[in-house]
Amino acid sequence: MSTNRMLKGSCLCGAVAYEVEDAFRYALNCHCTDCRRATGGAFKPIGGIEVEKLSITSGQDAILRYGDEGPEGSHDIHCGTCGSLLYSIVQKGTRANVSLGTLIDAPSIRPSMHIFVGSKAPWYEITDDLPQHERFP
Ligand SMILES: [Zn+2]
Ligand SMILES: [Zn+2]
Repeated sequence: MSTNRMLKGSCLCGAVAYEVEDAFRYALNCHCTDCRRATGGAFKPIGGIEVEKLSITSGQDAILRYGDEGPEGSHDIHCGTCGSLLYSIVQKGTRANVSLGTLIDAPSIRPSMHIFVGSKAPWYEITDDLPQHERFP
């Protein structure tokens, strides 16, 4: 058992709730086209963590899975009612990239870089001093 603090998260309508350990391996702002489309935002702040450290605590039946249907395929977990993008499963099903905007509790980590800045929205200007990468470093 882990001694880490647990963070709660939820979709917009509250149908789906999850818990994740406050033990993210990284946090970053992704400017790729997929993240912009999926969230409707200029970029998506995400925190990466092992999938075992995240669990759905209510609304398992309300989940909408979007993406690769294969057992190890990358896919996004949305609320099927309000559409919130809660997290993405990547790295052959081993890692979750949590959409930090769906967290209710604040994580200890802060985004440390911008990635996929080559596909950044042309109308959005990055105004902080965090490193900028063309892809996931
Ligand atoms: Zn919802
Ligand atoms: Zn992205």
